[in-house]
Amino acid sequence: DKDPRIHGIKARIRVVPDFPKPGIMFQDITTLLLDPSAFKDTIDLFVERYKGRNISVVAGVEARGFIFGPPIALAIGAKFVPLRKPGKLPGQVISEKYVLEYGSDCLQMHVGAVEPDDRALVVDDLVATGGTLCAAINLLERVGAQVVECTCVIELPDLKGRERLNGKPLYVLVESH
Ligand code: AMP
Repeated sequence: DKDPRIHGIKARIRVVPDFPKPGIMFQDITTLLLDPSAFKDTIDLFVERYKGRNISVVAGVEARGFIFGPPIALAIGAKFVPLRKPGKLPGQVISEKYVLEYGSDCLQMHVGAVEPDDRALVVDDLVATGGTLCAAINLLERVGAQVVECTCVIELPDLKGRERLNGKPLYVLVESH
């Protein structure tokens, strides 16, 4: 049932133990980017899923959502909107705080970038606890947009992030345990 391209994508993701701190198995997508064929397969799989679904905005989460989001947006004819860490966007912003394992973080979006009739796809490289995607969903829904789906290259299913997305569907290419 799985697309044969998935195996090659998974093989190109480097797992780095104990980065950035002990106990974390860091999923490094920079090695996937080094293989143009596997990187293209990654984008193609997303585009095949989302073309023709009337998605008007791809919202990418800083920083690695900025790598996968724009080529998807261009291919499906949607605008791209960056969701950024505090202090990076120069215009008027709305903010959404979220809790991390240690401390908290925040995502911001430019006011006016997304409108109430927009249909949104949220893109990041990886979902762990789901806190980041949840904040992204909240930003988009606060301005009245409809979140059609969230998508990531990698899911860490043991952390059950999927259950924190307020019922929004999540699509991933690769699971890592
Ligand atoms: P979370 O909010 O817990 O779902 O964490 C997801 C965010 O943290 C994404 O932006 C990921 O890039 C990053 N992240 C969390 N855990 C990892 C991991 N094991 N490897 C790589 N990135 C991670």
